[in-house]
Amino acid sequence: MADISYDVVVVGAGPAGSIAARHAAMAGARTLVIEEHAASGSPVQCTGLVSSKTLDVCGIEPGAWVYQKIKGAHIFSPDGSSISIGGEKVRAFVIDRRIFDRLLLQRAAEAGADVMMKTKAVGLGPGLRPEQGLESGHGSERARGKKVLEVITNGKRFDISAGVVIGADGVQGSIARWSAIGQVQKVLSGVQIETAYDVENTDHVEVFLGSDVPGFFAWAVPVSENTARIGLCVDPARTHLSAYEHLRRFLHTNPRMMERSGKGCSDMLVGCIPLGPQSRTAADGVIITGDAAGQVKPTSGGGVYMGALCAKIAGEVAAKAALSGDTSAGALMEYDRRWREVVGKELAVGMRIHNVFGRLDDGDFNELMRFFGEPEVLELINTYGDIDHPSILLGKLVTKAKAGRMLGVGRIALRAMMG
Ligand SMILES: Cc1cc2nc3c(=O)[nH]c(=O)nc-3n(C[C@H](O)[C@H](O)[C@H](O)COP(=O)(O)OP(=O)(O)OC[C@H]3O[C@@H](n4cnc5c(N)ncnc54)[C@H](O)[C@@H]3O)c2cc1C
Repeated sequence: MADISYDVVVVGAGPAGSIAARHAAMAGARTLVIEEHAASGSPVQCTGLVSSKTLDVCGIEPGAWVYQKIKGAHIFSPDGSSISIGGEKVRAFVIDRRIFDRLLLQRAAEAGADVMMKTKAVGLGPGLRPEQGLESGHGSERARGKKVLEVITNGKRFDISAGVVIGADGVQGSIARWSAIGQVQKVLSGVQIETAYDVENTDHVEVFLGSDVPGFFAWAVPVSENTARIGLCVDPARTHLSAYEHLRRFLHTNPRMMERSGKGCSDMLVGCIPLGPQSRTAADGVIITGDAAGQVKPTSGGGVYMGALCAKIAGEVAAKAALSGDTSAGALMEYDRRWREVVGKELAVGMRIHNVFGRLDDGDFNELMRFFGEPEVLELINTYGDIDHPSILLGKLVTKAKAGRMLGVGRIALRAMMG
């Protein structure tokens, strides 16, 4: 196949890739998205719980692919007690990620981006230097000052030259590594099944805290009245067992699971959640976004919302740089600055909360939950709780803990705030 050339080439057709491609194309750049799988959104590696704001950011109206509207959560402490938070407002949706991802890719194509499925990036190199190629023919001229992405499609290798390559290739992505951008700070291991479950409220998710799930938490997210996605994530640095082994134990020992969940499952997924972005997310001719850049909420592991916000900026900056002819790291760092202005503080606070939570023992969790269960505190949670921006609530809780002389809890929250 003949070599081809684009202003912007996006590697990966997950949410971040499709959104970046859409915005690059809308900004006038000739844009291509490549995806190694035959369809975007498959295999699914997600619970499919996204905030209502996520759909707004993605510019998508809820459709038949929204299975449940979520208004709150039941949170369970290690001692089995629970609190219920939320209210009448719909705060999140349980969605079908396969359809969601395809809708986003369709939007990118409608904006003018070309799409190549079953096309895998296998290498990334510099294009010719500006002084090279003048006498070497048209193909070489096109590659001057560009990146050259080596890909395989239908068993054939060929090169694509790109003004800017956007690495939206997920947690296992290669573009960051090939560009010496480095790795995210931490990677959690997750596993989830979809199974029969006697759901108490279809508009509430269930969250389980404690040392059974080292470094993170377990969940049961309703799909219907009698089906849920049950899963957990663990921090591999805090356990010698796999996430799968933790889930097996959780299903067999947690009293609520023993009472409500069925045997076997209709679907199972394993996946990783990257936390903590690299110190820079742009290099010469390269930008990384979404999971590849650790743009994931460290408190919940949700990556679609943050990834969408950042990918939009990635597409805009990549297009501007490619069209202006300056695709240097210096020009592309505009992306790094802009996304950090939007979500940098939230990610940093979230990372501190995550790190503190990872150090809590069951006694701490029980104490924290008693504090959360106090009527005035519950009111604060229900008023200020925002799964996309937990730092707002955290500030209110710290003040409350101090005023109530709940020094143990205050200390926990303060450690999270101050690092
Ligand atoms: C167990 C679990 C549960 C989760 N639950 C939620 C949730 O409820 N809500 C939420 O918001 N987030 C959740 N997440 C996180 C969420 O799935 C990710 O944050 C999100 O998918 C990231 O989007 P992305 O576009 O950055 O990457 P991805 O969705 O991973 O997409 C990357 C794409 O790049 C492609 N690719 C990779 N390498 C190449 C290559 N070399 N060439 C071509 N293509 C390539 C991949 O095939 C893939 O399609 C969960 C994650 C896990 C593991």
